[in-house]
Amino acid sequence: MEVPTNKKLPGMSQHNAPVARRLEAVRYEIRGALARRAHELEADGREIVKLNIGNPGAFGFDTPPHLRAAVLGNLAASDAYAHQQGLAAAREAIAARERARGAAGADAANVFVGNGVSELIDLSLRALLDDGDEVLVPSPDYPLWTASTTLNGARAVHYPCHATAGFVPDPDEVEALVTPRTRALVVISPNNPSGAVYPRETLAALARVAARHRLVLMADEIYDEIVYDDAAYVPLASLAPDVLCLTYGGLSKVHRACGWRVGWVSLSGAIAQAREYRQALELLASMRLCSNVPAQHAIVPALNGDATIRALTSPGGRLFETRAAVIAACRRSEFLSLVPPRGAIYAFPGVDPRRVPGFDDARFALELLECESVLVTPGSGFNVPYRNHFRITLLPEPARVAEVFERIERVVGSMARSRQVA
Ligand code: PLP
Repeated sequence: MEVPTNKKLPGMSQHNAPVARRLEAVRYEIRGALARRAHELEADGREIVKLNIGNPGAFGFDTPPHLRAAVLGNLAASDAYAHQQGLAAAREAIAARERARGAAGADAANVFVGNGVSELIDLSLRALLDDGDEVLVPSPDYPLWTASTTLNGARAVHYPCHATAGFVPDPDEVEALVTPRTRALVVISPNNPSGAVYPRETLAALARVAARHRLVLMADEIYDEIVYDDAAYVPLASLAPDVLCLTYGGLSKVHRACGWRVGWVSLSGAIAQAREYRQALELLASMRLCSNVPAQHAIVPALNGDATIRALTSPGGRLFETRAAVIAACRRSEFLSLVPPRGAIYAFPGVDPRRVPGFDDARFALELLECESVLVTPGSGFNVPYRNHFRITLLPEPARVAEVFERIERVVGSMARSRQVA
């Protein structure tokens, strides 16, 4: 569970290649030591149920045929580098949708297409941050936000999203963390890992916090259309006409095309005051030339063609039914509690500390992998101060879920018994 550091270890040769010091505090546990151990076990012939990554294609979800046809049909026209911000038609479609959703001033000139939202998270933070700056990031978070903030010399200041409040943040608590060094407020709704979908009034209050303190709003809405029951996705940009708002979206989740690496960020709101920031983004985008061109051809059909995700998130749909199976399994459990996810493709169960005193999420995840061949991500990988949660994806078949939770119950049960004996 160690990451490489620059510190000289006993017995370490003088000639080892150095590692950048700025990586010392950078973490991305979703693909960390546990995932590497799972690969080793697989190489030894063990079948591992991998529930650590929200990778729809790995669970039999197909990218819709009209998106595939667009990529294949345009392959011959994709040999050259494209514009650093992305194909014009794709950017027009993204900006048009943002405007239709109420994002003031969204324009193709201020849209950047990237190799997934991942690349754009780093690029947009790099264009903003100086050493010692601060970024407000949810806790739990999608850990790339914290990692990228750290990598860019700044400090992620985590605002708590309490399980008791359905993992929805309290805007007053967020505002109390603002300092003169705060530059941006990151909002992830629908949320990974908690599945929270923030209500309109919470989003509006967060937008007001950003306006009062002149913060850049960074709205990670990659799960925008993945909502369950009566949960409603509200675009943050529609509530933030007077601050610079960056809205991130992409094809990875809603369109099940993770491997194609297509994401975008669209600027809206106080764009007039962001001329230099926009230029900085363009410089950084130019330095990586352009993003993957063939896959960009899927953006127009994805945004303007048939919506395909609703069938999966409605009763009878695969995501809906797996979510129901996870909720039911947690209700049956002697040890687990769950805030039912209202959006996205994850569940974030907690282990009752009274039933399992001293429960440690990393030790649990390792034991679950070694003894029961199930790979999950410990909650501490999502920058929370507590150690009694874990994240699983809602992507497996519903039938698989009951069996996985029996294995989880066995491991937690044996941890509970060993604690009582100790
Ligand atoms: N943002 C969130 C909240 C995510 O969960 C993910 C991936 O899981 C990403 C961004 C990155 O997505 P991609 O780089 O595939 O577009």
